Amino acid sequence: MVLLLFGPPGCGKGTQARLISNTYHVPSISTGEMLRAELKAGTELGKMAQSIMVGGGLVSDDIVNEMLAGRISRPDCAEGFLLDGYPRTVEQAEYLDALLSKRGLPNAIVLHLDVPEDALIGRMTSRRQCPKCSRIYNLLHQPPKNAGVCDDDGTALITRKDDREDVFRERLRTYDEVTRPVLAHYHDHEYYQIRGDRSPSYIFEAVTGILEKVMNGRTLVN
Ligand code: ADP
Repeated sequence: MVLLLFGPPGCGKGTQARLISNTYHVPSISTGEMLRAELKAGTELGKMAQSIMVGGGLVSDDIVNEMLAGRISRPDCAEGFLLDGYPRTVEQAEYLDALLSKRGLPNAIVLHLDVPEDALIGRMTSRRQCPKCSRIYNLLHQPPKNAGVCDDDGTALITRKDDREDVFRERLRTYDEVTRPVLAHYHDHEYYQIRGDRSPSYIFEAVTGILEKVMNGRTLVN
């Protein structure tokens, strides 16, 4: 099964991706995390992506598509996977369709986390991330057990540069202009809209309800 988590920046995709991946044992692939890893490793690709990412724009389709194709050709993805933050353009969605059919994988199932813009801006300023394991916290709703450090590995939490309000507004604009239209591409796919302006556990309950129904009668990704 190929799952696609879709929604605006800050809608909670990363948190739900982690919960889904841990519960259903599917590899979770975030192109944003992959790009940040390249950046951290100081690769050419990372250097190229950096200026685009800190400005709130999108890295070019060719780069992201190639990165994604490489990742899903690894053995852990043979049975299926979860995509978080990809596809973000219609061209990426078309590329993914072709890639899935070439690999003999089923069409993606779309889970759309819908959150009003006002709520997103409020959330962003309180978002923190572990630079080591990428786990996401929110100081208001999901604070770490010990202030300022990751529950899983004790690393000091950071605020991502692209979570600054001005950059965040630019990311929202990019989403509205370039990414939201991707939804129309999926009109003939299995598509579920989930209200994302609720607590992560409430959202996850909705997600599991959908996934249990979807998996009924299909081969479970193990
Ligand atoms: P969020 O989900 O909070 O918006 P991500 O971690 O998914 O953030 O992405 C961070 C940045 O990485 C994006 O703003 C964009 O510049 C780049 N990026 C991530 N995924 C893609 C993609 N599929 N296509 C183009 N750029 C991407």
